[in-house]
Amino acid sequence: MSTMQDVPLTISRIVTHGSTVHGSARVLTWTGANEPPQARTYAAVGARAAQLAYALRDELGVRQQEPVGTLMWNNAEHLEAYLALPAMGSVLHTLNLRLDPRQLTWIVNHARDRVILANGTLLPLLVPLLPQLPAVEHVVVAGPGDRSLLDGTHVTVHEYEELIAGRPESYDWPVLDEREAAALCYTSGTTGDPKGTLYSHRSVYLHSLGVLAAESFGITPRDLALPIVPMFHVNAWGLPHAAFMAGTSLLMPDRFLQPGPIADMMEICRPTVSGAVPTIWQGLLNELDARPRDVSSVHTAIIGGSACPPQLMRGFEERHGIRVVQAWGMTETSPLGCIAHPPPGLEPAEEYPYRLMQGRFPATVEARLRGPDGTLLPKDGESAGELEVRGPWITGAYYGGADGEPFRPEDKFSEDGWLRTGDVGTITADGYLTLTDRAKDVIKSGGEWISSMELENHLMAHPDVTEAAVIAVPDEKWDERPLAAVVVREGAEVTYEELRAHLGERIAKWQLPERWARIGEVPKTSVGKFDKKVLRRRYADGELP
Ligand code: ADP
Repeated sequence: MSTMQDVPLTISRIVTHGSTVHGSARVLTWTGANEPPQARTYAAVGARAAQLAYALRDELGVRQQEPVGTLMWNNAEHLEAYLALPAMGSVLHTLNLRLDPRQLTWIVNHARDRVILANGTLLPLLVPLLPQLPAVEHVVVAGPGDRSLLDGTHVTVHEYEELIAGRPESYDWPVLDEREAAALCYTSGTTGDPKGTLYSHRSVYLHSLGVLAAESFGITPRDLALPIVPMFHVNAWGLPHAAFMAGTSLLMPDRFLQPGPIADMMEICRPTVSGAVPTIWQGLLNELDARPRDVSSVHTAIIGGSACPPQLMRGFEERHGIRVVQAWGMTETSPLGCIAHPPPGLEPAEEYPYRLMQGRFPATVEARLRGPDGTLLPKDGESAGELEVRGPWITGAYYGGADGEPFRPEDKFSEDGWLRTGDVGTITADGYLTLTDRAKDVIKSGGEWISSMELENHLMAHPDVTEAAVIAVPDEKWDERPLAAVVVREGAEVTYEELRAHLGERIAKWQLPERWARIGEVPKTSVGKFDKKVLRRRYADGELP
């Protein structure tokens, strides 16, 4: 055994450190263009987190390891919950406000949330669900919104500010085992019921350090970080806890998530770094191209959740001076898996191919590829297989619910406990992952695989195409063939033949789609990704649309 002290890695340490050493860092919450953002120091956030913890423990009887739901936008009060709930020993359970109401109900019942912290503007969404949520006893409402919607429901209603007012501003945080649960996040359940990942204090702490590394997000006290990615989407990719740990100030967009307000808040508040999924960045790029703003403060745009289309990366860099950094991850991986910083010593043009890969794994995330026959494949940049990962911030099972045991479905975990990601790709000897597809999106044509992601990226690089989603449709001769659903830029006249010719210059002829559909918009999931299962349903019969 070593001689080193065995100090648990717990979130209370992040709270104490951030609110003292970095007490003057600030969280700004956007309240609309007509008024200045609400500003609160980290010292005040820490004090209010302590008050919230007292209120929840003493007034609402929240117990150790009890999940507390948050149905909130990205704002200062949500940050307070991010700190108070784990630090006091309960569990932060972020609720995805864009989920289908049936799934949301299922999730709250599965976790058996008894207390929900909600933003007032989200009550229209929560109140209709309450009759199906018998276990919910208390709703704590923060921010603007009509409280009377809760009249006549079975819950006890509390006003956030009144509940915390007058309570002590420091809390003697309990000493916890670092392996205890700190936060709970469910996947959106694209197939079957949603599945919960229960993060530990240790995993959140280590993940925060991982986010802070220079070859990662690399944020410092000199940054102002704008998490556009919602705090219910894998804990806003770890940004809130990491920022509080590092003393990085935060700019929170609250409910103002449209491209116009985001561009405004960038110009006015001058963030340096931001994170969002590609669809959000694409909307912002269109907005900035149409109505330029001064976004010169932003040096880094982190993009993840789906592949970054090359023209999106180039568009931001060439027209707006914002460097786009791609990262790959999942709910099950906290989410930081790998991040695409290029190796040293390259010219900018040589860096692009590396930066368009999903990225390089840090030491804390081990990765391997498994071929269709079950054998492990070499990391040679060519052998393609399903990605499996393991590490201290990767889940080893799914949450079994209030009464259940953790479970490990065979299609999600290997026999020796690695997470099976369902993503297919290659890894180079020096650790760069290139995804070609999700296993369920690959098009299996005549025994060969066609990458839907590659076709989409090439299509979206065409100047007249704003979005493209490629799906497999059944085919008598080839089993499956690609169908390309494209959104054409307003006013453009491009034909399918022209798009086929454009693709023909970039990919093998046998991969070219014969079936095309022109659509108004690609359907999106609750976190803004292309929702191909909706398209698959629409074109399931393989008929030419
Ligand atoms: P959901 O499965 O509901 O989309 P997640 O947010 O956990 O929920 O999604 C994880 C998946 O997102 C990954 O398995 C992968 O398929 C996809 N993904 C994430 N980042 C990237 C990326 N940079 N490039 C391609 N796919 C990505």
